[in-house]
Amino acid sequence: MTPSTERARRVYAERYDTQPAGVWVAPGRVNLIGEHTDYNDGFVLPFALPHLIAVAAEPSSTGRWTVYSESAGTEATFGVDDLVPGTVDGWAAYPAGVVWALHDGGLRPPPARLVVASDVPVGAGLSSSAALECAVLTALVDLGGLDLPLPRRPSVAQRAENAYVGMPCGIMDQSAATLCRAGHALFLDCRSLDIAHIPCDLAADGTAVLVINTNAPHRHVGGEYAARRATCETATAQLGVAALRDVGLDDLPRALARLDDVARRRTRHVVTENQRVLDTVAALRGNDLPGVGRLMTASHASMRDDYEITVPEVDTAVETALAAGARGARMTGGGFGGCVLALVDADRTAAVAAAVAGTFAARGFAAPEAFVATPHGGATRIA
Ligand code: ADP
Ligand code: MG
Repeated sequence: MTPSTERARRVYAERYDTQPAGVWVAPGRVNLIGEHTDYNDGFVLPFALPHLIAVAAEPSSTGRWTVYSESAGTEATFGVDDLVPGTVDGWAAYPAGVVWALHDGGLRPPPARLVVASDVPVGAGLSSSAALECAVLTALVDLGGLDLPLPRRPSVAQRAENAYVGMPCGIMDQSAATLCRAGHALFLDCRSLDIAHIPCDLAADGTAVLVINTNAPHRHVGGEYAARRATCETATAQLGVAALRDVGLDDLPRALARLDDVARRRTRHVVTENQRVLDTVAALRGNDLPGVGRLMTASHASMRDDYEITVPEVDTAVETALAAGARGARMTGGGFGGCVLALVDADRTAAVAAAVAGTFAARGFAAPEAFVATPHGGATRIA
């Protein structure tokens, strides 16, 4: 298929009979490790995908914003008066939320006409929502010459999703879509917002990250996500800490003894997952790929048993990939469906993908899709 960048430009020209002023992109992402740690002030380690959402755009003299999505096949128009959370709904709430969040931050995004085309699968845990927000944000910041340095952009996009769309996501996805660097994973401290670009050139070491989209239907995502956050907040209050990030591994047994069974397991996941992120960074820096694999598999067990955010398709993909020789495998993203990452020797990717497809067929699951992912750069203007 034609890349999203070309489609955005083409659809723009067809709809409006003129060329856009420019094309901006933002990538989807996978999270190598560090799940449900972001809203606990912890650590994450995503990298951006070559799958992009592209926005072709041009300033508009109408004083309003018009957004068309190729995949949705619909157009939405809104003005400054509509910039009240809840006024624009459906997919257009994401771009409207970005305009609102910029306004709310004291900036004046220029009215514009935008066309969105995407190569990021929707709802697969690859963060199409943040890619959409960040592509629109980057376009508006550039078109308007707005004073919004790169490090401040993720929180504006996050605010669009939290306060306008109404999804209480953490800051990982927007940070990945904005700040990632090609060939690197992004280590992010979600409290200080400090980042480090960690070299992640797996191909040079003869391995690959295989992304397996289970195509499992998402179940209860919003409610379960909110429930996990609520349990973490309760545990935080009971333990008298600012965030679960503040519970160290050494304090863990004492802290867990003070919690009920569910809060205990949720807390154990968050605290041990934070440590696994730090250990993965060290393993990547030390070229210890078997170590990275073991940490990924341990992370999956923790998500399955303690955080209880996996589903049968996801667990099956992980087990089958490991049985077919993967060095490690884990679910990536918020859970209840979505994608699995498997760290695989480069010459085994097709065999592992085929093994998972075979098991899925035998169990009557929807057919999975798999691709090898190499770390891509963050949001930028491309034309
Ligand atoms: P994920 O971010 O994991 O893909 P979300 O549920 O957070 O899943 O976000 C998906 C939503 O983002 C879609 O339901 C839609 O509203 C919006 N979205 C993503 N991509 C597009 C697109 N190309 N066009 C319009 N809306 C999109
Ligand atoms: Mg999302």
